[in-house]
Amino acid sequence: MTPKLAAFFQKQDSDVFLFAKGRVALYALLKAIGIGKGDEVICSGYTCVMVPSAPKFLGAVCRYADIDPQTYNISMHGLEKAYTHKVKAVIVQHTYGIAQNMDEIAAWAFDKGIPVIEDCCHAFGSRWKGQLCGTFGIGSFFSGQWNKPFSTGLGGILLVNDDEVLAEVQALYASILKPSDLEETRIGMQIRVYNALVNPRTVSIITRAYRMLSRMGLAIGSSSNDELAGEMPRDYFKSMAAAQIEEGTKNLANIDKLIAHRKTITGLYDRELANAGFQPLRQHKDADNVILRYPVRVADKKELLEKALKKGVEIGSWFEIPLHPEGTDMQKFGYTDGMCPEAEKACREVVNLPTHLKIDESEAVRVIDFLRRFARSV
Ligand SMILES: *Cc1c(COP(=O)(O)O)cnc(C)c1O
Repeated sequence: MTPKLAAFFQKQDSDVFLFAKGRVALYALLKAIGIGKGDEVICSGYTCVMVPSAPKFLGAVCRYADIDPQTYNISMHGLEKAYTHKVKAVIVQHTYGIAQNMDEIAAWAFDKGIPVIEDCCHAFGSRWKGQLCGTFGIGSFFSGQWNKPFSTGLGGILLVNDDEVLAEVQALYASILKPSDLEETRIGMQIRVYNALVNPRTVSIITRAYRMLSRMGLAIGSSSNDELAGEMPRDYFKSMAAAQIEEGTKNLANIDKLIAHRKTITGLYDRELANAGFQPLRQHKDADNVILRYPVRVADKKELLEKALKKGVEIGSWFEIPLHPEGTDMQKFGYTDGMCPEAEKACREVVNLPTHLKIDESEAVRVIDFLRRFARSV
């Protein structure tokens, strides 16, 4: 998988590192640049809690930047507001696959003298002014979770773009934990079960069951109970399992087809949403986005998601609260209500539509028909 990834980004194999999760890749990068006690790191106020947990596990504190309501990426206003002199890095998240305006960010970060880290967990193949997301910052991290750009059946990737940082990451990676034989077997099994059972009509219900099983310790979930409570799991710093590398290699072989497919489905949503009276996504002319999930604002989001679950229509929600998932004690991660009003509004209003390979045009039309019948635009 490593050579394929390196080739995709036109990098060396040695610039790519494979981890158990995306968050662990972020942790490694933050550690490599020396983030520690007393430091602050800016991240989006519209994210997965596993992002702020990485600096937290290093003794640092996250500051949250509010988002631009059109791109769902951090706004310059939000960035300014979140900045203090203790800030030692900024994590830029290309939300839903929408490329952040990297000119603005790079200028701002250069002025402040702080490094940029790219959260590419939603963005594989998206470009800003022709340049691939993931190649702008000192490093970038990717997630191989089931519902991310391409699956490794849980897993994470780090891409390093800076020679000094590279040496530090190499040193850290030399002492990483390896998955045990038992874990290898369980992960391999989970990947097979997932691939056999999950399709657009079953995904919501299976995701629910899977979360329950992993909370009970019966399946390897994306987050342990410790992590959700803000505690670092003992076996956190772990590398990717062989079964995950195999799954990733298989999925990467189809990446060009997948990217083209996502663009086709995005185009279909653009047209059909407008016809149905919803606001299509407004994309910047300098961004060439590969949309992972297509965001739409609706009234009565909760009811709509329940109805979609019952009808077997794959409509999702990222994020339900500023530090996803619902139920997170956000104060433990330094987020208090009202910090990022645009992010909070998006949490109340935005549902997202799938663009992956199992969504063919007729399934995409079915998704839009569902919205037409049951959703109200805001
Ligand atoms: C999923 C996700 C992560 C975390 O990825 P893991 O592989 O689960 O650690 C980080 N950032 C964003 C934006 C995500 O969606």
